[in-house]
Amino acid sequence: MNIFENHNIKNSLQIKASCRFYVEITNKNDFNELYVFIRNKQLPVFILGDGTNIIPPEYYDGIIVKPLFNNINYLNETNIVSVGASINWHYLVKEMVSKNIYGFENLSLIPGTVGAAPIQNIGAYGQEVCNLINKVDCFNYETGKFLSLTKEECNFSYRDSSLKKGNLIIFSIDFKTDSINRLNLDYKSIQTYLDANKINLDSLNLNSVSDIICKIRNSILPDPSEVPNAGSFFKNPIIDKNKINTEHFSLDKLIIWDIDSKYVKVGAARLIELIKKDLIEDKNINIYDKHALVLTTNSKISQDSILDYANQIKSKVLEVFNISLEIEPTIISN
Ligand SMILES: Cc1cc2nc3c(=O)[nH]c(=O)nc-3n(C[C@H](O)[C@H](O)[C@H](O)COP(=O)(O)OP(=O)(O)OC[C@H]3O[C@@H](n4cnc5c(N)ncnc54)[C@H](O)[C@@H]3O)c2cc1C
Repeated sequence: MNIFENHNIKNSLQIKASCRFYVEITNKNDFNELYVFIRNKQLPVFILGDGTNIIPPEYYDGIIVKPLFNNINYLNETNIVSVGASINWHYLVKEMVSKNIYGFENLSLIPGTVGAAPIQNIGAYGQEVCNLINKVDCFNYETGKFLSLTKEECNFSYRDSSLKKGNLIIFSIDFKTDSINRLNLDYKSIQTYLDANKINLDSLNLNSVSDIICKIRNSILPDPSEVPNAGSFFKNPIIDKNKINTEHFSLDKLIIWDIDSKYVKVGAARLIELIKKDLIEDKNINIYDKHALVLTTNSKISQDSILDYANQIKSKVLEVFNISLEIEPTIISN
């Protein structure tokens, strides 16, 4: 276990942020020492992956825990691959594609680590990571106990899981390598891409689908290593369709996916596009022109300034549509 004081907190929004303690955990034996350290310090604790979905404060008067587990082990007899929390997610996708293992390809190019993937049940292009998970191995830093959670115990739903609230450090995840055996091309933007480029379905394989997903993503999302951002800043809200205010815009101006006879999922990007002309500008924050759910920064921002801007968007969307938006990245608070 390595302990650093006054260490910076890496984050893709490029907020200048630091913490009182930064603790690297490199193997399972470190956890007992970490447990004692946390008990002695009596400070708040936050687990950090690659920092692509967080909004940190300027100074976190607490302990940042950084798991460093870099293993990938194939347990062929059980069709399981066991993957360390700090492996880069897209690296794992490429590894699975190269081994002809289905199910990961639609999640190509999602930034961040394997350990963070189940926290908000990462998803894209008609796939969610919960469909690939067998179990999640964690350490509870409040109780000092190790636990393995099954997929069911993680209570996965849209951009959510019970892992968000559990004082848990995920250090390894078991993925099933035989759960899916066909390409999933149903998502509308995949279909549009295939049609526009006259691609024959028979010519597709895991590798080409992964490439297509990367191309679609690169055409609409900023690369966080070049343009600071945290991906989608808001979740797509799931609401009662009858409660949407249609006084200013009719329903056909919105993007709506039916969930059941009462509830719908509404595309938050479209809501923001429709109200963005009424927002007070912030010279350091922009709504990305190719995808209104993404807020980009020039790195001269603070947690407060980006949250003020996000709250302005939330208020306007509530006023105009009677829809409450929820911020997607994790806000680190002291
Ligand atoms: C350009 C861009 C595009 C994106 N596109 C998508 C997308 O298509 N779909 C999608 O779902 N997300 C997307 N995201 C969000 C982001 O990629 C995911 O949330 C990713 O899982 C974050 O990984 P991370 O390692 O950076 O986690 P961090 O940002 O470091 O942490 C995120 C959360 O996970 C927790 N956490 C991290 N590691 C662990 C661990 N080992 N144990 C316990 N808790 C942990 C943190 O405490 C925090 O609550 C995008 C982000 C960007 C910047």
